[in-house]
Amino acid sequence: MTQYPDLHLYIGGEWRKTPDSLAVLNPATEAEIARLPHARRSDLDDALAAAEAGFRLWRRTAPRDRADIILKAAAIMRARQEEIALAITAEHGKPLAQARLEVIRGCEFLEWDAGEAVRTYGRVIPSAPGVRYIVHHQPVGVVLGLSPWNFPMSQPCRKVAGALASGCSIILKAAEETPAGALHIARAFHDAGLPPGVLNLVFGTPAMISDHLIRQDAVRLVAFTGSTAVGRHLTTLASEHMTPVLMELGGHAPVIVCEDTDVEAAAISSAVRKYRNAGQVCTSPTRFFVHEGAYDRFLTTFVDRAARTVTGNGMEAGVEMGPLANERRLPALQSLVEDAVAKGAKLCTGGARIGNQGYFFAPTVLTNVPAHARVMQEEPFGPLAVINPVTSLDEAIAKANSVPYGLAAYAFTNRADYADRMTDEVEAGNLSFNTLEASLPETPFGGVKSSGYGREGGTEGLLNYMVVKTVSHSMT
Ligand code: NAD
Repeated sequence: MTQYPDLHLYIGGEWRKTPDSLAVLNPATEAEIARLPHARRSDLDDALAAAEAGFRLWRRTAPRDRADIILKAAAIMRARQEEIALAITAEHGKPLAQARLEVIRGCEFLEWDAGEAVRTYGRVIPSAPGVRYIVHHQPVGVVLGLSPWNFPMSQPCRKVAGALASGCSIILKAAEETPAGALHIARAFHDAGLPPGVLNLVFGTPAMISDHLIRQDAVRLVAFTGSTAVGRHLTTLASEHMTPVLMELGGHAPVIVCEDTDVEAAAISSAVRKYRNAGQVCTSPTRFFVHEGAYDRFLTTFVDRAARTVTGNGMEAGVEMGPLANERRLPALQSLVEDAVAKGAKLCTGGARIGNQGYFFAPTVLTNVPAHARVMQEEPFGPLAVINPVTSLDEAIAKANSVPYGLAAYAFTNRADYADRMTDEVEAGNLSFNTLEASLPETPFGGVKSSGYGREGGTEGLLNYMVVKTVSHSMT
């Protein structure tokens, strides 16, 4: 395991160990691969002081110069792609090919926002003769970024990209289960010449860190990706201090399959997408509502492809799906399957852990799942698909909207009238027709309802990290 990095906190431009550490495990083998230092309150206070100093310096750095450093860091990470991908697969379990793509995706987030750094335009509003109002977009200040374990490198890249491109400094608390992606980001920025304090990286007890830092006046934005339950808690905490939040939370993506589509092609691409990252993706297609005229063919093709998914250690060639990233997701998935079956659902394939070493869970398909089964409301966040028949587009849209979530949604149809109706009526931040790609770095991404608010990426992305200041000039 020589490729796995020696883990540190990164505070004020310096690497730091602490007396407290926890094991990082390889979820495919359950072997310990590293010790992760945990921040104490004093480390957090140091990170905050460093971030305040970093902000004072970085906000006065020309956007072009900020962009140059971000682009240099991205170039360094591209050059280190293989080393980073190996570390991600070791700590997260995903197939190496997917880890390689994740590294590139993370770099693309940085590169897009670096380009946006020089385009944070304001505007001039004329008033009485000699009077002008000028609208400025200014960086909000120190950002607390909290990123999850499902994409150890690209998720923290989103927060770092938004903060640094807009002129903010950031304290990043990345996921303790998967720290190497974020560590490599900090290394790349360090090597690219980022001034000390602009980017700080901490790990530790999530509740202690968020509770301690959100209370600080200097923290001016909380940017979180993770579960709705935690997002709600952090939003409540932040609201006590009137601190704005950017919340990218859970999803429970519906897929509406209309009878006019190429059913087999839709089923195969859906099954491949469903099991990517072992289904641990907030945009993962999960609730399939298939028109009864296409249902049998769709189900048969999907189940066949699901059962043929090559599952194993992500380091091995040909593996399509690795283990779940942590042990607690095994009982979480098992109980959703058992609850659905007990309530009358049919288990078509999978439904249980594979073996007893490593957190492998079989690609699973349930059908005829009743509305009162927990899985119809709770995000499984794993390799589990529900495929139910519907008799009309009205029924499909109503069922698609029948959850508290509204992040990604998908549909397969070639009919413009169907697409038009779904564009108007499906409750989602991102809706995709005939593709399961929900977003690109250049498109805004985020949810409605309990999936959160604010957008990452696109021209909208940097707005979360900026405040509007209106300045009036009287020349008379
Ligand atoms: P969880 O709710 O325990 O934790 C979710 C994330 O929040 C983790 O990264 C965790 O470290 C962090 N967290 C937990 N408590 C925190 C606190 N008080 N302050 C700051 N951070 C805190 O769930 P889990 O078992 O880790 O993951 C499963 C669920 O998380 C899934 O059901 C899914 O909804 C959600 N999730 C979503 C995304 C996403 O991309 N939106 C990513 C990962 C996990």
